[in-house]
Amino acid sequence: MSEAATKICIYPGCERPAVPAHALGGPQPSFCDLEEHNALTAHQERQRRAGAPSGQGADPSSEQGG
Ligand SMILES: [Zn+2]
Repeated sequence: MSEAATKICIYPGCERPAVPAHALGGPQPSFCDLEEHNALTAHQERQRRAGAPSGQGADPSSEQGG
């Protein structure tokens, strides 16, 4: 039994185990089997949790050239 330590999905807040490496080889994915958990959404979630200002929404100090 030389099973490596279970890899956990690196999506912020996700504690699901990452999907196993492909049978034909290749690196093991860093995300679980959830379709919405991938490098892009994980990055966006980190930005959101970091309190980054969202590009959308009403801006209190909107500039009006005029
Ligand atoms: Zn996940």
